[in-house]
Amino acid sequence: MHDFFTMPSAYSIADALNQVRNRIAAACEASGRDPRTVKLIAVSKTFPAAAIREAWQAGQTAFGESYVQEAVAKIAELADLALEWHFIGPLQSNKTRLVAENFAWVHSVDREKIARRLSEQRPSSLPPLSVCIEVNVSGEASKSGCRPEEAEALCRLVESLPRLKLRGLMTIPAPTPERAEQRAQFAALRRLRDRLQAQGFELDTLSMGMSDDLEAAILEGATIVRVGTAIFGLRQNRRS
Ligand SMILES: *Cc1c(COP(=O)(O)O)cnc(C)c1O
Repeated sequence: MHDFFTMPSAYSIADALNQVRNRIAAACEASGRDPRTVKLIAVSKTFPAAAIREAWQAGQTAFGESYVQEAVAKIAELADLALEWHFIGPLQSNKTRLVAENFAWVHSVDREKIARRLSEQRPSSLPPLSVCIEVNVSGEASKSGCRPEEAEALCRLVESLPRLKLRGLMTIPAPTPERAEQRAQFAALRRLRDRLQAQGFELDTLSMGMSDDLEAAILEGATIVRVGTAIFGLRQNRRS
């Protein structure tokens, strides 16, 4: 963790957080939604523990991470704070134990094996792990997430596993500057959630929307937005 981007000292995470909160409030207003129905996760991947501490001082308590080893080191370093940790990155089966032991939520469950391992490895001293099924609504071969038609079986499985709690659906859409295309992708996830709800699944969460498209996501019903760049600044290279 020595290659982290060093932020210019003039950069204020507190100011950036306030701007994001204002964007969320404006999008809620535009869609007639109560701002308390949209939760902000600050995506801190690649940024050091000190940046997370700064965001916490500005009132942020939920954080998202994508790289297991890096995350676990920061979680240990910040153990003195009451933070809620969300794992949002691609998950390999050899890393599930660390995630099951250190996070409150996983947004990126996209196959059966990962779900089963997370449940088996979730310590009994902790509450059940909150889980979203990641769905690929844009059909790009390179993207993670299950196909929409696989979501029902995964929901049924997660619902049946004793140490997991099914919360909802997550998506990372194909990036596009076109607001209408952003909305179409988020609407596809919402409609899938609605269909699954009609089948009886309890799904209180739609995890969608990032720095560039959180307004479109909120208009389409997001209950969690995952925002990194707009809070912490640009990430130095890395994998995303
Ligand atoms: C990095 C990441 C984000 C945050 O993206 P920004 O564009 O920096 O806001 C959100 N969700 C996931 C799954 C990510 O990997």
